[in-house]
Amino acid sequence: MAAVYVDLSHTLEPNVQIYPGDPAFACCPVQTIAKDGNSVHSISMGSHTGTHVDAPNHFCQNGAPIDQLPLSTFIGNAVVVDVTQKSAKGKISWADLAAYEVIIRHKVDLDHGAFVLLHTGWSKHWKSQMYYDHPFLEAEAARRLLELGVKVIGVDTLSPDETRVDGSIPDFAVHDLVLGAGAVIAENLTDLEAIQKGDWLVSLVPLKLGGLDGSPVRAFAWSTAALSP
Ligand SMILES: [Zn+2]
Repeated sequence: MAAVYVDLSHTLEPNVQIYPGDPAFACCPVQTIAKDGNSVHSISMGSHTGTHVDAPNHFCQNGAPIDQLPLSTFIGNAVVVDVTQKSAKGKISWADLAAYEVIIRHKVDLDHGAFVLLHTGWSKHWKSQMYYDHPFLEAEAARRLLELGVKVIGVDTLSPDETRVDGSIPDFAVHDLVLGAGAVIAENLTDLEAIQKGDWLVSLVPLKLGGLDGSPVRAFAWSTAALSP
């Protein structure tokens, strides 16, 4: 049977929504086929633009940069947690995740380990003011996930921590915990509903950006069931 692939990435394009204070995405033609015989663009963006992963050195002084993490970090078995019932600024607690503990333990033990992907449904607010008011994870829940051996926590929002647009500094407890443990965070995922059911492997392989604190990725999933005879 042919493998089924699901794109979990937003398109990088001008006016892409960015974290408050981050540099804007910009893209402009440097050469054109009409004028130069080939097409080349310059691209400029922050290291946390669009669908991307955070390396430990995003928050931890001595944490590993993105290019130093082994490729095996970025492939994992998805456990998609349905938290679509959460409203704006809603807190995701361990009580919301506890029902998934058995499946998380099972996938942690599989080849490639486990990614826990929090499906809030907030990706439908992408490019709107509402996108900033996403639900967010409680530190205690993140701690429990790390304790279970989860190697990536991913969200279909700007951040697993609260995002504020009034200039005040939010609590980055989840970033501190996850990145401090040497694990990875994936942000701005989309279409998690497509992989809510069934068994999926997910790839979040970043660009090999020397010493950097994160990287845009083309996040995608493929069905392991479809690959079995
Ligand atoms: Zn980030």
